[in-house]
Amino acid sequence: MSYIEDDKKYIAGTYNRFPLHIVEGMGSVCYDEKGKEYIDLGTGIAVNTFGYSDESWVSAVTEQLCRFQHTSNLYYSSPCITLAKMLCERTGCSKVFFSNSGAEANECAIKAARKYAADVKGIKNPIILTLVNSFHGRTITTLAATGQDVFHNDFLPLTDGFAYTPANDIEALRESVDKYNPVAVMFETVQGEGGVNPLNKDFVDALVKIAEEKDILLIVDEVQTGNGRTGQLYGYMNYGFTPDIVSTAKGLAGGLPIGATMLFGKLGEVFTPSSHGSTFGGNPISCAGAVNVISRIDDELLKGVRERSELIVNTLSNAKGVKGVTGMGLMLGIETDRPAAEVVKRCMEAGVLVLTAKNKVRLLPALNIPMDTLEKALEIIKGALE
Ligand SMILES: *Cc1c(COP(=O)(O)O)cnc(C)c1O
Repeated sequence: MSYIEDDKKYIAGTYNRFPLHIVEGMGSVCYDEKGKEYIDLGTGIAVNTFGYSDESWVSAVTEQLCRFQHTSNLYYSSPCITLAKMLCERTGCSKVFFSNSGAEANECAIKAARKYAADVKGIKNPIILTLVNSFHGRTITTLAATGQDVFHNDFLPLTDGFAYTPANDIEALRESVDKYNPVAVMFETVQGEGGVNPLNKDFVDALVKIAEEKDILLIVDEVQTGNGRTGQLYGYMNYGFTPDIVSTAKGLAGGLPIGATMLFGKLGEVFTPSSHGSTFGGNPISCAGAVNVISRIDDELLKGVRERSELIVNTLSNAKGVKGVTGMGLMLGIETDRPAAEVVKRCMEAGVLVLTAKNKVRLLPALNIPMDTLEKALEIIKGALE
């Protein structure tokens, strides 16, 4: 297997790869070089929204690719304008900034909150409160925002200006707000990397109320929960509040790099020429892919997401070896008797790709995975739990 040796020899050792070499994919299935078929319930970590090489997505992307692949942000180009307009109309945000990844979308969210603090409130060293067990990215600043020491340890000193409070603990939230007087609270509605744990409605309601009373910005990291994943277009829509800033990435362009930071209301005016920027941000090909994805996430598709979710929850909740199922929509975590890594390995051998998050098996299937394909995959997962 020369590719394994060459990978180890030439690629920085940040990934512990599985012994699987994907050479082709179609919808929710993919193939290794020996032609073995796998049902993919991981979608490249919630990226391939409509699976591999979806036909309508491919033609939207190729059409743009044949027109032109890139221009600088010094000139106007249509795909990013169309996408921004779509996101504003669908969410009620007033402006969008485009970047290339989740970490960058969060960097922009943090910069927007800090600039707002400086411009509007005259605060010089603002604190942003984030949640324990959160995940916001791998840059030095988004690592600082990430409320998990395991990610911090080897990379000190991190960016100042962050404090942490436990998720789903209203009393602790009140204390943290009093103690740190934060300009913003940043959170995922379902903590993905932290173990697929949704925030309780009570906690979010309390947070929204406190934020309103104390004029604190709400930054929602929808990098993983966004773009239909939870059964609503964005995860915050399950909770019924209006955020100030929403970041998203992963599934937005259906498999191409993109990040988007949505600025609501007064935050829309915070950036001025040269206060932020990105060479690749708003890339026409990525945006053409995203326009295709967002235009297809309608009520019917979201209903399908919730139906698929129910099928998974109903099938696995009472299955042998399952202790519980957490999450929302097609972002689900399964707590199992045996170690999650062992379940992943067994599933892979049996032709199903699943992920882990902390101690759970994590499922992030394509939003349009055919029901029969999903049923087949669930039978295989059940077999791996026996
Ligand atoms: C994946 C993820 C990120 C980081 O996204 P990258 O594109 O890897 O930079 C940030 N926040 C959340 C919630 C994520 O799931």
